[in-house]
Amino acid sequence: MSFYVTTPIYYVNAAPHLGHAYSTIGADILARHMRQRGEDVFFLTGVDEHGEPVALAAEKEGVTPQELADRNAARFRDLMPLINASNDFFIRTTDAEHKAAVQDVLQRVHDNGHVYKGEYEGWYCPRCADFKTENEIEDGNRCPIHHIELTREKEENWFFALSAFQERLEQLYASQPDFVMPRHRYNEALSFIRGGLQDVSLSRANLTWGVTVPWDPGHVFYVWFDALLNYYTALSYARPGEDLTERFWPATYHVIGKDILKFHCVFWPAILMAAGLPVPEHVFVHGYLLMQNAEGREDKMSKSLGNVLDPFEIIERFGTDALRFYCFRDVSFGQDGVVSTAQFGQRYEAELANELGNLASRSTNMVARYRDGVVPDVSLDPALVEAFAGLEADVAGLLDRAEITQALEAIWERVRRLNAYVAETAPWQLAKDPERGEDLDRALASVIEGVRVLGVLLTPFLPETVAKLQMALGDADSTWTAAGYGARRLQRVEKAEPLFPRAA
Ligand SMILES: [Zn+2]
Repeated sequence: MSFYVTTPIYYVNAAPHLGHAYSTIGADILARHMRQRGEDVFFLTGVDEHGEPVALAAEKEGVTPQELADRNAARFRDLMPLINASNDFFIRTTDAEHKAAVQDVLQRVHDNGHVYKGEYEGWYCPRCADFKTENEIEDGNRCPIHHIELTREKEENWFFALSAFQERLEQLYASQPDFVMPRHRYNEALSFIRGGLQDVSLSRANLTWGVTVPWDPGHVFYVWFDALLNYYTALSYARPGEDLTERFWPATYHVIGKDILKFHCVFWPAILMAAGLPVPEHVFVHGYLLMQNAEGREDKMSKSLGNVLDPFEIIERFGTDALRFYCFRDVSFGQDGVVSTAQFGQRYEAELANELGNLASRSTNMVARYRDGVVPDVSLDPALVEAFAGLEADVAGLLDRAEITQALEAIWERVRRLNAYVAETAPWQLAKDPERGEDLDRALASVIEGVRVLGVLLTPFLPETVAKLQMALGDADSTWTAAGYGARRLQRVEKAEPLFPRAA
């Protein structure tokens, strides 16, 4: 089965912040998990480089838009290895192949009769690069996202006849009830569609920084259509000499933030239909990680709002896995929620260092000390067999639905169960009693097998940590066939180094 997952492409005008890391890590966990299961995976991320905001910022700095885009794209490219993103390609919308493919697809939309020329007048947010409909405008004629005053804009544009797709979009939502996830986002998108669709601008006349409209070279495509098409165009040139479109289109998951729901859940399927292309299977819409600011108000974390929890600082002090873990622990993926540095510190200490880290070092240490590192070849304790029964199927089922937080919680329940088991069986007591050697063998073998399974299941979440753990266990098999309790038998283990040392 093919599995194609994407992140939004990030707008190069912003500096990378936690929101970007969040979307990317979410998609990365799904990609890594599906690779474990032996699926044919393609994972795409990249940057969106066209549009008025980039042109304006470049002008202000006295550089060309391309120079600005090159410089800023590099910051996002550098973010990927830092957060351990395993993306297969990094797309830039200034790639020549992308631009040619955008022209190709939108020419088809034109030739299929879904495009017309007209005059557009409306309220426009230059930061969103988007016109706002009347019911989106905030009090005082402001952008609901940026809270800046909107400008009245009037220009001759090419229009995409979105209104003609209302019925087909409603049919799509009826026939693919998981097209948008989670459910409350599906309802939000569907009610937007049912509220009546207006045609949308497909081009801008007074801009040059974009992809030229092939049938009217005085225009460039509206940046949103150029950007959305990245998901489709990337497959045609991501691997030199190979076209992956047949193999991976339609996408399995577009992972996005809720601020771009309208574009992905309404415009995007409509433009694909207009081009005669299949629509994606799922759009997964995540919420915002909110931080309590100085006034006690909760705000979306974004550079433009000046309220930033720095992912780079977390990575530097605590490591990448700590960030990957925390992003999905306090706030359920798909919901809004509050994060804080205090909560982060608590989770790091209590869960990563104490619960998981201590379990790993304690269990390997006991096998090393009481059995010279040799894992006893005995049958496993039925209590743990039962505690782990069905776990890998549950995790796979949850991740099939991108329920990352719930999958992590299911795994973490077993981290706690194993710690409780160690406390109950007290191997250090058994070791003192020569008559209880068999009980000790069983306890050690049962715990260490649980630790091995946790390693396999946590691989997509904590790839660096699991690699260290698996060194100590002498077994690096993270494929899904190894995910069941009792699926493999470890031979020899070494005492694990501390997985989560105290931060400097
Ligand atoms: Zn805005």
